[in-house]
Amino acid sequence: MTREIDVLVIGGGQAGLAAGYYLRRAGADFVILDAQERPGGAWQHAWTSLRLFSPAQYSSLPGRMMPVPPDGGYPSAADTVAYLTDYERRYELPVLRPVTANAVRRGDGHLVVETDRGVWQAKTVISATGTWWRPYVPHYAGIRDFGGEQLHTVDYRDPEPFRGRHVVIVGGGNSAAQLLADISTVTTTTWVAQHPPRLLPDELDGRALFELATRRHRAALAGETVQGIGDLGDIVAVPPVREARERGVLKAEPMFTRITPSGIAWADGSELACDVILWCTGFRPALGHLAPLRLRGPDGLIPTEGTRAVGEPRLHLLGYGDWTGPASATLIGAGRTARDMVAQISR
Ligand code: FAD
Repeated sequence: MTREIDVLVIGGGQAGLAAGYYLRRAGADFVILDAQERPGGAWQHAWTSLRLFSPAQYSSLPGRMMPVPPDGGYPSAADTVAYLTDYERRYELPVLRPVTANAVRRGDGHLVVETDRGVWQAKTVISATGTWWRPYVPHYAGIRDFGGEQLHTVDYRDPEPFRGRHVVIVGGGNSAAQLLADISTVTTTTWVAQHPPRLLPDELDGRALFELATRRHRAALAGETVQGIGDLGDIVAVPPVREARERGVLKAEPMFTRITPSGIAWADGSELACDVILWCTGFRPALGHLAPLRLRGPDGLIPTEGTRAVGEPRLHLLGYGDWTGPASATLIGAGRTARDMVAQISR
């Protein structure tokens, strides 16, 4: 049986919930489908020590402030899961889970969404499936012959399994810095990155990056460019990262050029033995369910105007990164983009 609905949201993480908040306010006929068993999106799979890079008041969805943690510090992943769980209950958001959308196709005047629990027909589809589900590992010569263990950020929970093993951490962003800070408390590490990682000054946190994204967006609309302190990929010096810097472990080597059966090797012939390679090399947007629409550009992304897909006006994309709204992959930015998106859909 095919069910009909005006707006179907795919994904019940922070972006899907932000959309739900404004759809509810607009009186829309909508549901949210989420593949997870429980609320919280990607946050429920994050490592134990993860700390947000902004304080609670800058890490909130519309309508309800994230509670400040008892220690007054930045919220943890578990705090964020608790917040999102409470959020969807408080606003009575109609989230159906676990439901996975497998394919979105064009119908006659609507979009057809095939899921593992039946078929939906929607006038508008909002895709908010995040990136956590498509970890990215670059290819290096010898990668298959490495005799040690290889993991990605998504596999990491806590440092204990790495005690006594030499760990190479690959990547120049926040995940790499935070995992390095964590693992280096129990064992030896080597940090490698393609470009020298840039640490934001201690007094700047995610707020500065959010404000920079906002100014860049406004300037782009006016045809101008903005220079600012820091960049969106810069590392926020959250307390564990600062401690790692004090311990002297926060020094990155240049990227290796190949992997050997026992470690890594650089272009100048030098080699390093290691037991573990931890790839903190990012993610790609989880867009597989949209493949039948054939909307992807050469860069693998779907061209959008705001959140609306250029090639399919009934489809909106929310929360994947700046290309779907400035800072829309953050808690605070998802809300602002969702507000503008729902206003557009309502019109
Ligand atoms: P998700 O949380 O991934 O939610 C998407 C949901 O859609 C999931 O429940 C998923 O199961 C579901 N789904 C996927 N595919 C399907 C499908 N086909 N059908 C149905 N459901 C599907 N952000 C901040 O705002 N502040 C921070 O301080 C911050 N710090 C970070 C620090 C680190 C070290 C890292 C790595 C990330 C940080 N982030 C931060 C970013 C944040 O983790 C993500 O951007 C955020 O989880 C994305 O939310 P989302 O709703 O877009 O996606």
